[in-house]
Amino acid sequence: MPLIIGNWKMNGLIAQLSEIDNLDNELSQIHHIKCHVVICPPATLLVSATQNSENSKVAFGGQDCHFEEKGAHTGDISAEMLANSGAQYVIVGHSERRADHDETDEIVQNKAKAAFRAGLTPIICVGESEKERKKGRALEVVLSQLEKSIPDDIKKGIIVAYEPVWAIGTGLVPSIDDIDEMHLAIRKLLIKRFADLGEKTPILYGGSMKASNAEEILKIKDVNGGLVGGASLKAADFIGIIKAV
Ligand code: PEP
Repeated sequence: MPLIIGNWKMNGLIAQLSEIDNLDNELSQIHHIKCHVVICPPATLLVSATQNSENSKVAFGGQDCHFEEKGAHTGDISAEMLANSGAQYVIVGHSERRADHDETDEIVQNKAKAAFRAGLTPIICVGESEKERKKGRALEVVLSQLEKSIPDDIKKGIIVAYEPVWAIGTGLVPSIDDIDEMHLAIRKLLIKRFADLGEKTPILYGGSMKASNAEEILKIKDVNGGLVGGASLKAADFIGIIKAV
């Protein structure tokens, strides 16, 4: 089943929780929901979100985790803490964290392992910059990130998100052919390395996905859902993407 995952980033005070209620109301009116719906709110809202939504069709995730279980890491949050707050997923290696916090592929891989340790499914993000795409290096860069960011043992299950950095929050989206080419290359790498598990691993597209472009993108063969930033903040926008599946 496809996954539509909302990444709220550093957006949302307590009042924003009403959008999850709105989303639940919208979902309850859909006869047959054809995707899993996940929201990754800021960590400050996770406990309230999961407690408010006990009978909800929405699952929750964190936006990042430290790779250690606990200790002297002021301001950081462990995968165990996210799980303890009701999360089932965690985004690791988002390009904003790779850029703002100098996260390397090795760190991202350790965070994915921490997610396994805590019983969470890691959503491992990869994506090329505008400069890299213009130089014709997109495939090489993304496949290298992927190779180094994924742990050797993925029996517990991972999700991959292809998010071209230049498409995040910009309104720009790669051509359908470019998304198709990248997702196929990612699928081939996953199958080569993990056989059946690689075949089954969901590969999401992320970058300026919205209701008006979702259907076309989600139709691409190896696109198994979307990671959505801006258009996940309002239930009215997010539901349009969910309905496009
Ligand atoms: C994201 O941050 O993961 C993302 C895809 O953002 P947006 O949808 O706003 O481009």
